[in-house]
Amino acid sequence: MSSETIYARVPTAMKEAIDTYATERGTKLTSAVVDLLGRGLEAVADEKSINDLLANLARTTAEKADVEAELVTARAQLATLSTFADRAGQRVGTCPSCSKPITGADLFAVTRCPACKQPLTELLAPKAGAVSTLDQREMLLLVGALGAVLAIAYLSTKK
Ligand SMILES: [Zn+2]
Repeated sequence: MSSETIYARVPTAMKEAIDTYATERGTKLTSAVVDLLGRGLEAVADEKSINDLLANLARTTAEKADVEAELVTARAQLATLSTFADRAGQRVGTCPSCSKPITGADLFAVTRCPACKQPLTELLAPKAGAVSTLDQREMLLLVGALGAVLAIAYLSTKK
């Protein structure tokens, strides 16, 4: 290993400490100084990589918090959708043709009676004077659950 010479003035206390270090290890002053400087440089390099690791950790922690917040939102949305799906499966009235029960899904999604296969569109836009076979309370609950789903869809377009 090639070597260079460094002339450096050091505080007396430091010189004494280096002397003690050399004596304790049974080495010459030069070896002690080289050893100590090497360790010092290593410590400075480690400090930088520790700082890098800490910065990485801070960034990762922030990202984790973001992902957790998104997960909370997604769970809330899923719960709202589940509520709507449950509500859509409830009876909202009876078929005007065969008087069998029909659900919100039969009415809005399938638009036919599951029993007699008659179209249910008449229930959504009844002719004047026609008597509705829909349960108004169940219909309002279904519309309320649909409103919550629409709110989610609307808010998700605002992000
Ligand atoms: Zn029917």
